[in-house]
Amino acid sequence: MLIVMQSSATNDEIEKVTEYIKQRGFDAHISKGEDHTVIGAVGRKVIDKRDIELLNGVKEVIRITSPYKLASRVFKNEDTIIEIKDVKIGGGHIGMIAGPCSVESYDQVDATAEKLKRYGVKILRGGAFKPRTSPYAFQGLGEEGLKILREVANKYDMLVTSEVMEVSQIPMFLKYVDILQVGARNMQNFNLLKSLGEIRKPVLLKRGLSATIEELLMSAEYLLAGGNREIILCERGIRTFEHMTRNTLDISAIPVIQKLSHLPIVVDPSHATGLRDKVAPMSKAAVAAGCDGLIIEVHNSPDTALCDGAQSLYPEQFEELFIELKQLAKVIKKTF
Ligand code: PEP
Ligand code: MN
Repeated sequence: MLIVMQSSATNDEIEKVTEYIKQRGFDAHISKGEDHTVIGAVGRKVIDKRDIELLNGVKEVIRITSPYKLASRVFKNEDTIIEIKDVKIGGGHIGMIAGPCSVESYDQVDATAEKLKRYGVKILRGGAFKPRTSPYAFQGLGEEGLKILREVANKYDMLVTSEVMEVSQIPMFLKYVDILQVGARNMQNFNLLKSLGEIRKPVLLKRGLSATIEELLMSAEYLLAGGNREIILCERGIRTFEHMTRNTLDISAIPVIQKLSHLPIVVDPSHATGLRDKVAPMSKAAVAAGCDGLIIEVHNSPDTALCDGAQSLYPEQFEELFIELKQLAKVIKKTF
């Protein structure tokens, strides 16, 4: 249920309404918009909306029919902009995240990051804990990998994102990364989502392999319900009958999500296609469709990569692509 306050409502009136719903067993989430404040009342209790409508400063009470509430545009009309230091993602700012699939060694991350920094990338990616289909495949360097990422990122004044796979790893991740990534395979790991809702650091939530857009928004709702407002959604391709590409990139998810939700939506063309030569065209398509960011795999030596080499760009390929993407962004009045 959403309580829309009058634009003239005082802080005291907002506080009284908040107290009123809390006393009746609801959680209150406040969204201060440009025009008016909206209070999201989330809970399982039954309440007569007419009682709330009678309170001072209340304009109207809306029952939200969609199963996600805090993630919806009805709760918050303005785009959510994730701001970390001088980086912005959302609301006309396109974020660029790039780096290797996995952290393999200090030298590998350093060699890749040095180039990415020169090309203007501000957020470095790299998996330290890898969710691999085969138990015999490279599983990542673990905490050592996170240390390497942090060290290299500090050297080049970059931010870092890496995938957290389970609840017990969260305190460790908070020491090293700026954005915690939830992988496609964990999109509905509800214990992980609940715990990440309690932290106050941005979370990049990837769409599950076979998840609908509504299910993705429901997973975001778990994070928001815990009080974490800094959520970035990620379209990374879904499973279809088509096998020419690793997954099928759902480009239409971008405008669909942007209509339903205020959260930024980033696109991962690397895992979506699985093929290096498809990454550039799909990145351009995503920017043209209005995405709020891209996460692209780049490796200093893709031919010897321990993971996802075939979909990783050579640094020089990435440089060329990034130049083109910046030009494209201007056309739709956005900036990287
Ligand atoms: C990744 O980004 O490293 C990754 C494993 O992606 P996904 O969870 O989308 O498969
Ligand atoms: Mn990968």
